[in-house]
Amino acid sequence: MIGGFGDDRASGTDALVPHPEAMRALGYRVVDRLVERWTDLEDDVPWRGASAADALALLDSRVPEEGEPLEGLIEEAVHGVLPLAGRIDHPRFFGFVPSAPGWPALMGDMLAAGFNVFQGTWLESAGPSAMELTVLEWFRGWLEMPEGSGGVLTSGGSAANLLAVVAAREAAGRPEWPVLYLSDQGHSSIRRGARIAGFPEEAVRTLPTDEGLRLGTETVRSALRQDRAQGLTPVLVCANGGATNTGTVDDLAELAAVCRSEGVRLHVDAAYGGFAVLDPEGARQLRGIGEADSVTLDPHKWLFQNYDCGCLMLRDPAVLERALGHRAEYLQDTETSPGEVNFGERGIQLSRRFRALGIWMTVRGVGRRGLAEAIGRGIDLAGRAEARIAESTCLELLHPARLGVVCYRYSGAGGGGSHGAARDEAELEALNRAIQDRLLAEGHAMVSSTRLRDRYALRLCILGHRSRWEHVREVLGQVERIGRELEA
Ligand SMILES: *Cc1c(COP(=O)(O)O)cnc(C)c1O
Repeated sequence: MIGGFGDDRASGTDALVPHPEAMRALGYRVVDRLVERWTDLEDDVPWRGASAADALALLDSRVPEEGEPLEGLIEEAVHGVLPLAGRIDHPRFFGFVPSAPGWPALMGDMLAAGFNVFQGTWLESAGPSAMELTVLEWFRGWLEMPEGSGGVLTSGGSAANLLAVVAAREAAGRPEWPVLYLSDQGHSSIRRGARIAGFPEEAVRTLPTDEGLRLGTETVRSALRQDRAQGLTPVLVCANGGATNTGTVDDLAELAAVCRSEGVRLHVDAAYGGFAVLDPEGARQLRGIGEADSVTLDPHKWLFQNYDCGCLMLRDPAVLERALGHRAEYLQDTETSPGEVNFGERGIQLSRRFRALGIWMTVRGVGRRGLAEAIGRGIDLAGRAEARIAESTCLELLHPARLGVVCYRYSGAGGGGSHGAARDEAELEALNRAIQDRLLAEGHAMVSSTRLRDRYALRLCILGHRSRWEHVREVLGQVERIGRELEA
């Protein structure tokens, strides 16, 4: 029997380390299931949900007194539990922000898990920490941040945004009344990060955007002046490098110039959009990103990494260590020499996993050109979707394609498509809600909706490396068909 439980077992803990042959067989079984999943993905649904009652009913909630063979548990997870989830890397998964890891990332993560690296201190992880420094240096180069910039890999964009807030307050000398600014298109995690960091609600200003949903420099300037006149200390302006709603990028070069002249830090939340600098069109939109004081990136979004893998890059990474460095007697052996970094002092986690290996495997294994091609395809597909929507007699473009995202709605055969609908907003919202519900119920594609200036919008976010024009075109065709059926 495979699974490590012979009749000769000496103790109940033998299952923690099965015999080598059993380890291999179990490992190969897991790899076989993964390869099946990866090769059959397109024929599977992009998403399957269940109620809490139905999902919990699949699981035996009792704690067993004795262990049981792992083969059965692997199959139970693969066939019973894992199907009830999004296949976020499916070619027709266009909802929220997709994540499509590549095989190199998975290989890296499997190795990192198997070696169980503790990457909080240099003492315990010189090689892996050197690899994180290497990966961060690649990011620095791609963003064109100045030499000496650096950062930390985090659990995601939310953690990175929180760190950016803490770094800004520290860099400003921890003023008594710090204020931070984000646009009305800013990600909710910035506000949440500020709350965790102890900023009162009124110290977080939401600034209105222009008709292109971008943060204007005059808006920023006047907010800074107003608050300074009140005796408050602006510490951080947060700009979008790919807003989650629409993919919109603020004018980063211009905002950087304003922030520099006003003496306030600029943070660019480029969690999903930042790696688009690898594509020429993306780089054009993100021009100036390297002039920011800090930048949030999410390798688990557009650098084809597994969850969870985020990153904060800073011009002055030492400010994080000033803000967060901790000295404890039980860590006295972990002092670093120049050039070494205790990554546990740059973030929230002391115990942290080795995230750089998946990135390193991906960049080395795919190469810059392959990554640029995969990212560029998403940008192109969103552009083609925009053109297809503009041509349609019943779809209406609500926001042009930006960094893989396009927002639109069904406005009806009689509505004149993109050329001004005659229906009222409430009616259009009800109709598009019904379309969104039907799309999810039919289950062919995974899409999600949002609101733009209080208008209900259907949204496509095209980041997956498996997505092709046929997948995007199919979804738009379905929206037209369902819209017509609902109107009939
Ligand atoms: C996804 C996203 C975040 C949050 O990142 P997590 O990795 O989900 O924590 C923040 N900002 C933007 C712009 C995002 O797209």
